[in-house]
Amino acid sequence: MDSFTFGTSTKGCPTVICGNFEYIKFRENKSGQTYWRCKMFQRFKCKAHLKTEGDRIVTNNGYFTL
Ligand SMILES: [Zn+2]
Repeated sequence: MDSFTFGTSTKGCPTVICGNFEYIKFRENKSGQTYWRCKMFQRFKCKAHLKTEGDRIVTNNGYFTL
């Protein structure tokens, strides 16, 4: 599985950095999983996203286009 690190965006939002890509926290569900959207989501409609649980990635949809 890909390695990644947690960070903070310039606007103070929690982020995940995975390879050359940065994801911004979108929402959490009740089971403790966190959804992250590509930071290019709004500007470029990038569909890449991640789902994490604790310190591991549980879903990586692979849309590494931007
Ligand atoms: Zn993207």
